[in-house]
Amino acid sequence: MATDPTLAASAKRVIADLKELAQLTSDANGAQRVAWGPIFKKTRAWFAEKVKRELNLDIHLDSAGNQWVTIPGDSDAAILVAGHLDSVPNGGWLDGCLGTLSALEILRRYAARPNKPVTLKLVDWADEEGARFGRSLVGSSAAGGSLNIEDIRNLKDREGITQAEALKDCGVNIDRMLDAHKELKQINAKAYLELHIEQGPVLESMQKPTGVVLGTFGVERHTLKFTGQAAHSGSTPIPMRRDAFLAAAQFALAVREIGLKYSKPGANVVCTCGIVKVEPCIVTAVPGVCEISIDQRALNADVLANMLKEAKEAATKAAQDNNVALEWKKLWTIEPRPFDPKLIALAEDAVREITGDAPKLPSGPLHDSAEMVPHMPVIMMFAYSSRGLSHCKEEDTPIEHLDQTLQAFLLLADKCLANVAAG
Ligand SMILES: [Zn+2]
Repeated sequence: MATDPTLAASAKRVIADLKELAQLTSDANGAQRVAWGPIFKKTRAWFAEKVKRELNLDIHLDSAGNQWVTIPGDSDAAILVAGHLDSVPNGGWLDGCLGTLSALEILRRYAARPNKPVTLKLVDWADEEGARFGRSLVGSSAAGGSLNIEDIRNLKDREGITQAEALKDCGVNIDRMLDAHKELKQINAKAYLELHIEQGPVLESMQKPTGVVLGTFGVERHTLKFTGQAAHSGSTPIPMRRDAFLAAAQFALAVREIGLKYSKPGANVVCTCGIVKVEPCIVTAVPGVCEISIDQRALNADVLANMLKEAKEAATKAAQDNNVALEWKKLWTIEPRPFDPKLIALAEDAVREITGDAPKLPSGPLHDSAEMVPHMPVIMMFAYSSRGLSHCKEEDTPIEHLDQTLQAFLLLADKCLANVAAG
């Protein structure tokens, strides 16, 4: 099938915009577009000027500080294309802005068409990274209605500035942020499209430029406390010990086995014991107390539930085997957010037309798109991530892969516009 020759020109334009933005907002250590700060404001001014000059459109700032650009159509049925212009300190040149600037190109392409049967909306989410105050997905969770304002009101940055003050400085009243949810619910959204760099090594390991994202992982995050008896390491015979660390170690190995057991091609899961604290932490003492964390992630809710159940059984057995007590404490959980099956199929078509193959993968990190899943059909595509690196200046997608990714994503937008127009 001959591909549309305008896709290549469009991809080139997005890459030129990305380079222009990197030039404008990076220093020797990487991108510095931290939300609500001076370079972030400069980024937004640059973007608004571009939108005005090229599309003769204005930016609408919603109550949570998200930027919207709308091309109205004959019908109010709308397609949303999204990204985020904020970055972590010393960030990469693609994280977030790849989405916003490819969305801008989708608007350019649509603006040039004589007929506009449906409405097209760009949304540039505010403070996706949470790099300054520690809470990520701020703008999208306000629009999605899941944000608890009291959780963020008094968060402080390193200078002691509160989140509320930083928001006010950018024209956002923290007490009105959830009005953004009312605004979102007024949109007759038929599809949500977001392109992002993978930030992991999966596409690279498959040698594929781009892939279709199946959804964002659900997470079960807990701490366990094993309590035995601290004792002298020289005088206490091994069979008489109540070693809390050995129980935790036995548990950690079981958690790895559970993860491997549920990992299938295309349905990967991950499990991590990232924190281990031992007391009394003396070279000559049997550990009396050991705290260990567990973080399990999967795309399928039943799989995630089974993984947790088996981890609980393994912990109970480890406690019994080592004659120690066990307590569980929940830290945080979120359910899996699977993307829309029809949009997944459409994205597979687009990716296959451009690259000949359409790998599918889950997203380990959360994204703004996860906040939209309860409200509308959502799809994401990922771009190849060199060495899986992100949130650092080394973050990269080789230009030939970036070009193919962009062409496939822009083609997906074309297909989606045609589908929504056809009803
Ligand atoms: Zn991002």
